[in-house]
Amino acid sequence: MIGRCLGAGFLLLLSAAPLAAQKPTTPAAPAALRSAPLTNLRYDVTFDSASAARRTIKVGFAADVGGTGPVLLSLPAWTPGAYEITNFARWVSNFTPTAGGKPLSWDKLDYDTWRIQPAGAKELTVTFDYLADTLDNAMAWAKPDFAFFNGTNLFLYPEGRGFDFPATVRIHTQSGWQVVTGMAAGPEAGSYRDTNYHDLVDRPFLVGRFELDSTEVAGHWTRLVSYPTNALTGPARALLWDQLGKMIPAMAAVYQETPWRDYSVFTVFTSEQGGGSALEHANSHLGIYNPQFVGTPLLASITAHEIFHAWNVKRLRPADMWPYHYDRPQETTWLWVSEGITDYYADLAMVRGGVVDSTVFLNLTQGKMTEVAEAPPTALEDASLSTWIGPTDGSRYLYYPKGSLAGLMLDILIRDGSDNKYSLDDVMQELYRADYKKGRGFTSSDWWRTVSRLAGGRSFTDFEAKYVNGREPFPWSDILPLAGLRLVTDTVRAPQVGIGMTQDTAGSVVITQVQPGGVAAQAGVKQGDRLISLGDVAINDSTFNDAFRRSFGRSEGDTLRIKVLRGRDTLTLNGKIRLVDHTEEHLESDANASPKAARIRAGLFRGRGR
Ligand SMILES: [Zn+2]
Repeated sequence: MIGRCLGAGFLLLLSAAPLAAQKPTTPAAPAALRSAPLTNLRYDVTFDSASAARRTIKVGFAADVGGTGPVLLSLPAWTPGAYEITNFARWVSNFTPTAGGKPLSWDKLDYDTWRIQPAGAKELTVTFDYLADTLDNAMAWAKPDFAFFNGTNLFLYPEGRGFDFPATVRIHTQSGWQVVTGMAAGPEAGSYRDTNYHDLVDRPFLVGRFELDSTEVAGHWTRLVSYPTNALTGPARALLWDQLGKMIPAMAAVYQETPWRDYSVFTVFTSEQGGGSALEHANSHLGIYNPQFVGTPLLASITAHEIFHAWNVKRLRPADMWPYHYDRPQETTWLWVSEGITDYYADLAMVRGGVVDSTVFLNLTQGKMTEVAEAPPTALEDASLSTWIGPTDGSRYLYYPKGSLAGLMLDILIRDGSDNKYSLDDVMQELYRADYKKGRGFTSSDWWRTVSRLAGGRSFTDFEAKYVNGREPFPWSDILPLAGLRLVTDTVRAPQVGIGMTQDTAGSVVITQVQPGGVAAQAGVKQGDRLISLGDVAINDSTFNDAFRRSFGRSEGDTLRIKVLRGRDTLTLNGKIRLVDHTEEHLESDANASPKAARIRAGLFRGRGR
């Protein structure tokens, strides 16, 4: 998953002192408990204008019961890809189990689990209402003419019986409304079927009125679905199709395989969403965007990130997360690969596909360097582990930019060690074949052995200790010249506000640090405030950087209006503009690179076309 704010580039201008990091905690797993065996599992989901008016999805569950013991049914606590505990049972009401039309006795075993006494019944039915009021791509959200939901939200599973059971889903809606999902069609009209629960809950549904068209990309059917119907039309829709046609082949070239039968790009555009955020699945992704994302490179970037996940994390993933479990956090030290390296390949897919040029790629890379430099020094492994508890010091999502940069370093070192014969592409492809294709996750030794061998036998023990498990700054002055790249420092006089910020998964900008004595502190800005605008320039304005500098670049002492959301209150706070000499770095190609370094640089930008 990834969340981004339109003004993301500018956040990095603002510096503040780092705060102390927090320690991760490990919640205990619940005791093993087993449901009576269930077979022939069926789910019936009803969403029409009547249920939409109540923002409610009606859910029916039916199964055949074996044995005589209680039936234990649970809903997941999280959706894979969104590494936070949300407990979908929270949104359930009117839970009603019956057999032969008669109510069955039940109670709660824990907050995610219902215990039903089947009283000898050979078949049982459960109905409940699910409140679809949460605009989050891991959850369920309804409007008068539309809803999306994830299988993790609605689909009960029997406790302690594993996840290898087939199930059928039927969707009931009204005439004129459409249904779309990555699930394969089932035996009857309007039904869908999967062979196991992992796949079943990995295919979100959209029901209602939306725009849908399809075309073949890289030899496979690709669907583009957008809500509302007028959100993504004309040239902006054509642009996204063009970008998909360029980026997907560039990503498939890494693995030399397009693993899906069909792929669906699900998009929801609403001003209720501050930024843009999307969540990956094996053959689809669901993105929720502020309408200002339409037609921007950011939309292409998030789209590339989620599609690359179809290989990296949905298929090739760390052994810690293989297989998924749904009732508790599934910690791993490897999100820097699953998320960070995915984001590296999103940038590569754009430059290799020709969606952006190499200058934009280098600017994106440099932006990540600044983002890391401004955050508290945090080990990649620790940031991966801690994301489940949502650290408040600005390190929560650091495994995205810092993991992306670790990917660039590894790519350069492998190319350097093999005279550009091998690259990070080969690591990804080899592990995909050696681990995912063999039905398992990759281990630490799988990863580092492969990296080391492809880099000509060079040891990465020191690299891992310093830059993955440790907090040492990345050695750019040693690494970049190997790929014919260099960082150039410029001094500019620019306004300084004195805040550090991060984005939450919805794309809102949260202030994590307020520099003591700085402009924001004197204006009364507090840690935890959500930033709406600075100097009347909206934080979600895609041209924020330019607009802000144009307005305040030469105006020492002018009033700076800082608009924030504190709790439910919108506050306008006044500060005084302060200009400081600010050094900025930019990353560029070095015209004097050695022939080997120039080949490596070209290899990065071209991928397997080298
Ligand atoms: Zn992601």
